[in-house]
Amino acid sequence: MKRIALFPGSFDPFTKGHEDIVLRGLQLFDEIIIAIGYNSTKSQRYFPIDLMISKISETFEMYPQIKVQTYAELTAAYAKKNNANFLLRGLRNTTDFEYENSIAQITKHLNNKLESVFLITAPQFAAINSSIIREVHRYQGDVSAFLPYSL
Ligand code: ADP
Repeated sequence: MKRIALFPGSFDPFTKGHEDIVLRGLQLFDEIIIAIGYNSTKSQRYFPIDLMISKISETFEMYPQIKVQTYAELTAAYAKKNNANFLLRGLRNTTDFEYENSIAQITKHLNNKLESVFLITAPQFAAINSSIIREVHRYQGDVSAFLPYSL
């Protein structure tokens, strides 16, 4: 059976830290679906969804086994719909751990077949944080060093 993992997140924006998790995930999974959680009716994104879809697709254009999709429902339900048995997540620090631990427990309750798999962030990407990137970009700061594509 194909090992399909869903990598869910808001990716506002998708960073080099996210890219690293996906590329390392390729050693574990046959297919990785980058799933951008997005609700069109009450979206409060900073980076437009269409821009992020095209930038992520461009980043992984050499990898047919990496897909980019958007979704607006329970992650556990969306994983099932896509035949994904794994949720891929990145862990930067203990704050991430506390949060991810709760999500993983609830997700397991909702879909018992779904296993969460965590990769520890590579140290050079551990400080990269989407919300800080948004702030820097909002005030015209240069964020290019943190992104795997140019804006
Ligand atoms: P969410 O809104 O679910 O926090 P994010 O887009 O911020 O979504 O992150 C999605 C996943 O990527 C999460 O598992 C998060 O811990 C992980 N992640 C975020 N930033 C990094 C980074 N710099 N390095 C590795 N993993 C990261």
